[in-house]
Amino acid sequence: MIPVIVMSLPLMAAAIVLLRLLHGVREWPARAVLLAMLAAGIAGLAYSVFAGGRTPAPEPPEHAGHAMAPTAVGPRSVTLSPYARELAEIAVAPARRQFVDVEVRMVGKVRYDERRLAYVTAWIGGRIDRLFVAFTGDTVEKDKEMVWIYSPPLRTAQEELIQAVRTVERLSESGLPIVKETADRTVKSARDRLRLWGLTARQIDEIARSKVPTDHISIHAPITGTVIERNGWVGMWVDQGTRIYTIADLSVVWVMLDAYESDLPWIRYGQEAEAVPKTSPGEKCEGKVAFIDPFLNDRTRTANVRLNADNPKGRLKPDVFVNGIVRSRVAAGGKIVDPRLAGKWMCPRDPEVMADDSGTCPGCGIELVKTAEFGFVAPQEAEPPLVVPVSAPLITGKRALVYVQLKEGEYEGREVVLGPRAGEFYIVEHGLDEGELVVVRGNFTIDSALQLMGKPSMMNPKGGAAPMRHGH
Ligand SMILES: [Zn+2]
Repeated sequence: MIPVIVMSLPLMAAAIVLLRLLHGVREWPARAVLLAMLAAGIAGLAYSVFAGGRTPAPEPPEHAGHAMAPTAVGPRSVTLSPYARELAEIAVAPARRQFVDVEVRMVGKVRYDERRLAYVTAWIGGRIDRLFVAFTGDTVEKDKEMVWIYSPPLRTAQEELIQAVRTVERLSESGLPIVKETADRTVKSARDRLRLWGLTARQIDEIARSKVPTDHISIHAPITGTVIERNGWVGMWVDQGTRIYTIADLSVVWVMLDAYESDLPWIRYGQEAEAVPKTSPGEKCEGKVAFIDPFLNDRTRTANVRLNADNPKGRLKPDVFVNGIVRSRVAAGGKIVDPRLAGKWMCPRDPEVMADDSGTCPGCGIELVKTAEFGFVAPQEAEPPLVVPVSAPLITGKRALVYVQLKEGEYEGREVVLGPRAGEFYIVEHGLDEGELVVVRGNFTIDSALQLMGKPSMMNPKGGAAPMRHGH
């Protein structure tokens, strides 16, 4: 016996080194190789100790030699001695019912809100004589004068107006009603044309009163915002409809984010979110999830998520990089606990539109949708999901296996149906009961022990011949 123990000492040392390595290696293939080496070591050791078909006796922990040998129990289960458990650093945790808080972080860029764009266009053909805003990025107030255009047709139309006004004045005292009526109509159509070319009622009144035509017209800013594009230059001839400036109202912006496929279950339309510029993390802006692309980008495995973000200080400038953060409290059935949204109705096109009752959206006219349909639940109605720590299941492809501790030292492999990962937990759909203890550390070692015994394991689901055979 003594020489056997002496011989086994280097083997033990190797096993401990391997276990240490295993602890640091997370990738499946690398682990598998190490585990196979370890398993081979255990097998060789067990064989050398129990050569001749001796059954393992209850071992004292100080007898390092035989303590490593696992004992088979059920078809998927194994018993490990206290020493083997310690060596494999086995740890267990209960499957629990609890709400899980998930923080989803995404990266993306700021864009202007397409619904908050306005164009400064020439309403009449002519030559740009002055531009009052030289640079993109400049902010303008609504009605600010932006362009001064010289326009020959404008002069003609004004002369028609002045002529018509004079006629009306001449006919006001005497004259046939039918003639007067015609003159009035001429005034009206001349006024209409000038109005369509962009002159204000006051400007037209002024021309009619002073009877002095002008050959220039000013174009004013249609909204307050930031000039994001300029297409006109002084001296350029423009046609009716030519776009000279584009103005964006940046008080609310779009934040275009990329969400990973695995994070999508925890991002919902209408949810509150944060947008933080990468360069100034202190300047966070409030927003809402306004769009989730139903299609994934095949290459990146991400989906576009759009936030509508408030931008009161203008920190979210177009093209600035941002982090988008969504925080979700996950309930059973993949629902999201949200006291603010639960029980409400929302416009499916604009999450800003919320109501306590059904109805139609005052903005776009379509039917409001119950927030429950977007997956929101009130705290008092929410049920906690059954979860296990992420380290518990061994996952390959569609299969997931956990090792359940039946009693101290006895472990049984069990296939479970997992829901999505929620932060540091997996949601368990099927296969486990609340309170059952699952192995959260050392499960790879247990799996390899089962494999070695030719039993069904994660690596070898059907069981059968162990990779390391030893005859008697
Ligand atoms: Zn709407």
